Amino acid sequence: MQETKKLYEEMGIRPAVFEFGEKIAESLKERFRSIDETAEYNQLKVVHAMHKNNVGEACLSGTTGYGYNDIGRDTLEKVYADLFEGEDALVRPQITCGTHALALALFSNLRPGDELLSAAGKPYDTLEEVIGIRPSQGSLAEYGITYAQADLKPEGGFDFEAIRAKLNDRTKLVTIQRSKGYQTRPTLSVDEIGEAVKFIHSIKPDVIIMVDNCYGEFVEKKEPLSVGADMIVGSLIKNPGGGLAPIGGYIVGKKECVENAAHRLTSPGLGKEVGASLGILPQFYQGLFMAPTVTASALKGAIFAANLYEKLGFSVLPNGTETRHDIIQAVTFGKPEGVIAFCKGIQAASPVDSFATPEPWPMPGYDSDVIMAAGNFVSGSSIELSADGPIKPPYSVYFQGGLTWQHAKYGIMNTVEYLLRDKVISEDVLK
Ligand SMILES: *Cc1c(COP(=O)(O)O)cnc(C)c1O
Repeated sequence: MQETKKLYEEMGIRPAVFEFGEKIAESLKERFRSIDETAEYNQLKVVHAMHKNNVGEACLSGTTGYGYNDIGRDTLEKVYADLFEGEDALVRPQITCGTHALALALFSNLRPGDELLSAAGKPYDTLEEVIGIRPSQGSLAEYGITYAQADLKPEGGFDFEAIRAKLNDRTKLVTIQRSKGYQTRPTLSVDEIGEAVKFIHSIKPDVIIMVDNCYGEFVEKKEPLSVGADMIVGSLIKNPGGGLAPIGGYIVGKKECVENAAHRLTSPGLGKEVGASLGILPQFYQGLFMAPTVTASALKGAIFAANLYEKLGFSVLPNGTETRHDIIQAVTFGKPEGVIAFCKGIQAASPVDSFATPEPWPMPGYDSDVIMAAGNFVSGSSIELSADGPIKPPYSVYFQGGLTWQHAKYGIMNTVEYLLRDKVISEDVLK
């Protein structure tokens, strides 16, 4: 312990911060045990799906050119389908990010004249342009697809009456965002999503229910398809890529939904048959294999941050004791300096680019300046230790990731160190 403390000090963490953090980590032992138990269950689920589909050495070598008969790609898609309880899956490096995966799922399953309903309030910022909430080139709105929204209740949770009121003859697809994203609302649990799915299907059985599953994978023992959703969508540079996938997205669910997406990703007539995997499959397979424990590490980091910042007197969401449904931790500072100092601390703790200083900038897809801290092996990967925050009230920072719990712990302690250095807090609060 003494030598660890000394090394922390050499790496910029003063003893008062180390001792403060250590006490909090100590108090979380029981909680971490239950996270490890979930990770164990999900680890078995992943390996089980790999066994069932006879993942063999041949699956690890990729194809080039058109990518016909890519056994590794096709097998991986079967593994995802089994694992997440879908009929079919599309898991491709040609899906460039989470927003692309969601746009693909929407554009391929909606037709002009249809209406999209968000049952969980305002969707993730980048989807505003996909949908056309903010006018944008190539949006769903440009194709004559309209949008309706049922907000969550002020205290969080679905507003069933609002959903009922917004469902109509033209509603073809309902989207539910599991994670809070850049909002200060609670994340939805898989069981809550299940209740909404049941309710919506009882009113309109043929409507497609899509869940934006970003950041939610492997946090619980079940995923939204197990409670009746038709399609789940996510990014491989978040949880399911395990920190190893360098690109990619997935869509899993009903066969018809997935096929629609495949025919839009490649071309009508080609669908899933083309799309060379090149050399990427070992990282996709190994990343999925690592994903349950990597997600558990990120979760421990988030809970540690919540408890630590709560103790420092800031408002945190989720709070220190709440059950978790995604890996995001929001901390509200009420002023830009807090957000900036926090991000500086994360950046300085990163394995790569620790010498860089993050600055707020007008990032494409967002409606205010955003500051992002990430010194990652995979650029922009948010399953790795990272933090970001829009520079607008209430000045919240969103923290997530950590490929190992030990690194997440160091990163969070370093944010406290930077808040002290930038005089956002004083050392008295550590006592
Ligand atoms: C990250 C995220 C997205 C978008 O994914 P990108 O890879 O950043 O494009 C969409 N929805 C939610 C809830 C997310 O967390």
